[in-house]
Amino acid sequence: MQDPPPGFYYVSAGKAIDFLTVARNNCIQMGISRAERKTYRSFDGSHEEACWVERPDRYRAVESCGGDECRIVRGGGYSYAAAGFGGGARVQDLSSFNRVVGFRPSEKTIEVEAGISLGSLFHFLIARGFWLPVIPGYPGITVGGCIAANVHGKNPFLHGTFRRVLKSLLLYHPDRGFVNVSRDDERDIFDLTVGGYGLTGTIVSAELALETLQGNAVRIERCPVRSLQDAVSELTKRAGSSEFAYSFHPAYPVRGTVGNGWVYAADLIHTPGHEGRQRSMPKHVDPWRGRFLPFSIWGPGRTPYLLKAFSALERRRPRVETKSLFDGTFPFVGSWAYFSLYAKPGLFESQLIVPYENIPLFLTEIERILVEDNPPSVMISLKLFSGRNRLLSFENDGLCFTIDLCRNSSALRFLSKLDALMLKTGAIPNIVKDSRLTAETTASCYPEYELMKQRLADFDPRRLYRSELSIRLGL
Ligand SMILES: Cc1cc2nc3c(=O)[nH]c(=O)nc-3n(C[C@H](O)[C@H](O)[C@H](O)COP(=O)(O)OP(=O)(O)OC[C@H]3O[C@@H](n4cnc5c(N)ncnc54)[C@H](O)[C@@H]3O)c2cc1C
Repeated sequence: MQDPPPGFYYVSAGKAIDFLTVARNNCIQMGISRAERKTYRSFDGSHEEACWVERPDRYRAVESCGGDECRIVRGGGYSYAAAGFGGGARVQDLSSFNRVVGFRPSEKTIEVEAGISLGSLFHFLIARGFWLPVIPGYPGITVGGCIAANVHGKNPFLHGTFRRVLKSLLLYHPDRGFVNVSRDDERDIFDLTVGGYGLTGTIVSAELALETLQGNAVRIERCPVRSLQDAVSELTKRAGSSEFAYSFHPAYPVRGTVGNGWVYAADLIHTPGHEGRQRSMPKHVDPWRGRFLPFSIWGPGRTPYLLKAFSALERRRPRVETKSLFDGTFPFVGSWAYFSLYAKPGLFESQLIVPYENIPLFLTEIERILVEDNPPSVMISLKLFSGRNRLLSFENDGLCFTIDLCRNSSALRFLSKLDALMLKTGAIPNIVKDSRLTAETTASCYPEYELMKQRLADFDPRRLYRSELSIRLGL
């Protein structure tokens, strides 16, 4: 028999057990989860920090997590900015809270723990003939992350944001215990938590409203457009009735213009042969998978060639395609190479909602800046939005404009011009996507920034929940 490694040992039933194992077993029995040291990096590559991480796996462990220290919950880690870690906060990894706790088909509702991934939820629902209309683009994202960032899906004009499918949630805060909140009960806490970036507490579970599934596949129609203005016109025709409606444009100037691209409009259809043809969840859902190269492949000189190749392939595809529900809902699973090409340096993403009345001015100006500056931008995407902005939640009536760029100083110069245009046109930025945002810019764009700050301070005077994002934005 081998000698045990050096250390303190305790003998139980004739076996030597080290004290760490004993302490760990006792913690587990008492509902205390163990902390380990982990380094996290935000999805856009802007922020890296070593954190103490706890992984509670039962309600008692949620209560005992963190003691008096400041903390933040992490879902799938797919926020572009450091929203689920940072600022010295202890991280609560909620991945063990991943169960379906109640399913009521007759009422079209489901209750799930907040750490469940959208991919797992999708498979559960599809197999039972139900559908969640608001689903962001990657299956590793969790329900807790969807609530905290009030995310949108592929047609926020028709379906709104996650707030619309959320009936109620169970929140835990050490100073308040477990609180059930909904539009009818504790409305103020509900509004502060939906789009509240995890700053009101740990969302433990949520009840969601479902729709009956209207098909077994997605029929996607691809419509070529010659400019960003054309794309807005096409989206205006499609967004009122299509399940998905968004556009994609290579973001480099060609002959003095930007905006050649495609509008994608999709509907759910019944088609024989597609029953049960769903991919399963990708095994490795680490947000940084595949991004190992030390330099970005996208970049001046290379982006136009890569995107020309992509556009040529896109033109050869049939104008109308039928995809499985999974592939239509989670397009980034099949095109993860897009992120891998940004490699270790990461990317900048800026996403704004421009009020309808200022869309023409915004598009004219953005096109001019792109042509004049020729920044290291890669792609632009547009969606129409409907909703009412509350506190710091990314929701409003208008055009949602998204641009991705390589992470370098020339992109930063372009983005400061975009910030000025955002202020000029009354647009609001998506806070979980843009890690450059400062407290000043956020306060200038969001009319209820001060109200959000005040409400957070009233709700939690100790401000126990914080992250790099909350500290940067002065929350
Ligand atoms: C490939 C890709 C595609 C995307 N597509 C879309 C899209 O189509 N639409 C869209 O709106 N967004 C999209 N996003 C952004 C993403 O949906 C949001 O950033 C979302 O918040 C990420 O959720 P997460 O589970 O990864 O949480 P994290 O990134 O880990 O955390 C996000 C925020 O949620 C909080 N949080 C997470 N769980 C809990 C909990 N249980 N209790 C309290 N707070 C919690 C965290 O504290 C943090 O503030 C996309 C991102 C990627 C990388």
